[in-house]
Amino acid sequence: MAPAVAACSRWREPYRSHSIPNPRNLTGVTLATPGPAGLAVRLDTAESVVMTMHLETRAIHAPAAELNGSRPVSTPIYQTSVFAFDDAAACARALDDPGAGFAYSRYANPTTSALEAVAADLEGGAAALAVSSGMGAINAVLLGLLRPGDHVIAQRCLYGGTFAVFTALAARYGIDVSYVSGRDPAEVTAAASDRSRLLFLETIANPTIAVGDLPALIAAGHQAGLTCVVDNTFATPVLCRPIEHGADIVVHSATKYLGGHDDLTLGLVISAREQEHRPLWKHTVDLGVAADPFAAWLTLRGLKTLSLRMERHCASAAHLAERLAACPAVTRVHWPGLPDHPDHATARRLLDGFGGMVAFDLAGGRDAGLAFVSRLRLAALAASLGGAETLVLHPASTSHRQMDAASLRAAGIEEGSVRVSVGLEHPDDLWADFEQALAGL
Ligand code: PLP
Repeated sequence: MAPAVAACSRWREPYRSHSIPNPRNLTGVTLATPGPAGLAVRLDTAESVVMTMHLETRAIHAPAAELNGSRPVSTPIYQTSVFAFDDAAACARALDDPGAGFAYSRYANPTTSALEAVAADLEGGAAALAVSSGMGAINAVLLGLLRPGDHVIAQRCLYGGTFAVFTALAARYGIDVSYVSGRDPAEVTAAASDRSRLLFLETIANPTIAVGDLPALIAAGHQAGLTCVVDNTFATPVLCRPIEHGADIVVHSATKYLGGHDDLTLGLVISAREQEHRPLWKHTVDLGVAADPFAAWLTLRGLKTLSLRMERHCASAAHLAERLAACPAVTRVHWPGLPDHPDHATARRLLDGFGGMVAFDLAGGRDAGLAFVSRLRLAALAASLGGAETLVLHPASTSHRQMDAASLRAAGIEEGSVRVSVGLEHPDDLWADFEQALAGL
């Protein structure tokens, strides 16, 4: 079989214009013409150069403050909780407006702001907020936008933690949630009422790896007057930028692929427009969910290699998915790069790669799932994803343990499902480990 990943390696990131310092004070010159492989450089003023660059390039060059005639290549870690002023009015201005300066790191911090600028740029948003975790990002958006009595429409198959928050919202604030499959925009239209406020989707669903028709679902949401929020954790901006498809707000667990090394916990909220960002900034300040500057710095460092890592994650996932599909103990492989996957056509249209997450169902059900994950020697049984190491889990007993048997079935999660975050190891070593753990199941 031809490698499935070949069909999706389009990597068609949009170009974006940026102003960067003009080191040689040249003006009015165009050094290159924009084109599919080109880099346009327009020397606009003596102070700045406008460049049109690919996503890979933009992920590497975070803004850094000018020092005395030079600037740091790596964004420094401003590990300080507070900033001193000579003037009380300037301190008050900085507390009211993060653009006016830095006063207190719960409001804004230079390292965190550099990450927010890069994240907003990569997702094509107006602005971003870095918060303490992915759940911090999701809660900040839900609590910031919803009022008691509101109604939410959400994809049925979601990260278990998000599902738990929706359940808690219903009990505590009378905010009820209707679940849709995420495959048919007509379901969104049918579920909407005059109390509906928000549509919540995942680009690639956790843990079924389903890919819904994001543009059509968002269009149906907007038609019903909903704010459309997309969790883009599994796809990352390398594979999909939901704001290009109409999303109003994108959330991330940067703990996963964006950080990429299983060594930080951080969340991001990216708003398509300043009008959504500003009240969310004030709300996160009040909630007290600011990201730690060191975690922000680790995320900035992770972003520098995100494109490279995603390319390898996608290629190794293709390798593993094809081998699992040929294995008798496996009844079904969930990876949208496989031509017979029900979302293959949607994924080809929407994504610039099929992703590094693979799930599969074992014929032996729950016992086989639990036995498989404990037999692995190289891949680790761990409740996270997106790092260099391959991690596996049995969703029914761990990440989705909050769901009862009926909810699991409705979300398409089998008792024998195993979820794999395919790491950066050599794919043959990984398969050797999987093969020994599958033997005899
Ligand atoms: N969104 C998705 C899709 C996730 O998989 C997770 C965690 O696994 C989260 C959000 C929550 O992120 P965090 O653990 O950083 O709070």
